[in-house]
Amino acid sequence: MTLIRFSEPFRTHRELPAVQQVLQSPVWHGDGEFTRRATSLLMGITGAGHALLTTSCTHALELAGVLLELGPGDEVICPSFTFSSTATAIAARGATPVLVDVRADTLNIDVAAVEAALTPRTRAVYVVHYGGIAVDVEALAEILEPRGIALVEDNAHGLGGSWRERPLGSFGCLAAQSFHDTKNVTSGEGGALLVNDVQFAERAEVVREKGTNRARFLRGQVDKYTWVDHGSSYLPSDLLAAVLTAQLESFDEIQALRHRVWDAYAEHLPAWAGEVGVDLMSIPEGAGHPAHLYFLMMPSGLDQAGLIGHLRQRDIVAAFHYQALDQAPAGHLLCRTPAPCPVSARASERLVRLPLHAGLSGDDVERILEGVTSYRPRG
Ligand SMILES: *Cc1c(COP(=O)(O)O)cnc(C)c1O
Repeated sequence: MTLIRFSEPFRTHRELPAVQQVLQSPVWHGDGEFTRRATSLLMGITGAGHALLTTSCTHALELAGVLLELGPGDEVICPSFTFSSTATAIAARGATPVLVDVRADTLNIDVAAVEAALTPRTRAVYVVHYGGIAVDVEALAEILEPRGIALVEDNAHGLGGSWRERPLGSFGCLAAQSFHDTKNVTSGEGGALLVNDVQFAERAEVVREKGTNRARFLRGQVDKYTWVDHGSSYLPSDLLAAVLTAQLESFDEIQALRHRVWDAYAEHLPAWAGEVGVDLMSIPEGAGHPAHLYFLMMPSGLDQAGLIGHLRQRDIVAAFHYQALDQAPAGHLLCRTPAPCPVSARASERLVRLPLHAGLSGDDVERILEGVTSYRPRG
């Protein structure tokens, strides 16, 4: 039987001609024609007024930390149940990530836990829309806005997701996208910073370009460019932007194919899940999800390994997700965890993600459904 991979980039047949066009042009560095095209497509999907391609979501989050002027002594609250990048980007500025638990239903940051973790040093809250399902943005805004605390979205899962018709990535003053090849659209590695608060727009360009005002120079706004600020090199080559442009031009097609798989899981798994005590993903009213992932919450840790092994025997690759950061070695070293995070720990132990990518055929989905529903939990 052919192996069903957990995730795989979708090839749209537009990537190769686009990359060829760059290779034949004199401009291979960043901020060429394809960077402009990918950026404008991204702004169309997210509604962002300003967007900057970066080399990764991690780098976009680091850039956000520079713009917010985070430094030693500052605290930034983020969920324990997330990828390391959310926290490393905070720690990279010398600030302290403060880890809090997530809600049991969505696995999104628990707003009550955020409120309990606030201190006079809290400068920002970095949230993750897990699986592209919106966090409680209104409840968060209510506690953060009066205190002048910034909201930043790690929107790695959320491209194409929405809350009450408004795109994810538009709620924070800054938001970070990922184009890693495990995400819905990809350039292999890649990311973007969405700048929703216009006060950061000009400085974001400078920090991304090694601290120079080269972007203003290219627009003819200054005669020479020079070193004006902190910075690093966060811009991707136009070769990668060409791949990304091709993918973003096919965004609707990719999303339709992913939703077809997601919908098949949501339609065919509830009977089995109810019978055997497995919890399925549920989408809150008002949340538009981007079919980024489909997870099952198994009755025990034994069943996490059990189901993954059962599927592996059928040549199907399923995956667990994050080790809760408060339990990771660097979490002890670099973060503060004011209260235990039992929901994050439970998700680390029990969550199983099913294969989900645009290249899965109807037969693949049948095989996966058959594999899952033939499993009987032991825990
Ligand atoms: C994938 C992911 C990242 C990292 O993205 P890169 O582009 O690889 O830096 C960060 N946060 C979350 C929640 C992710 O899923």
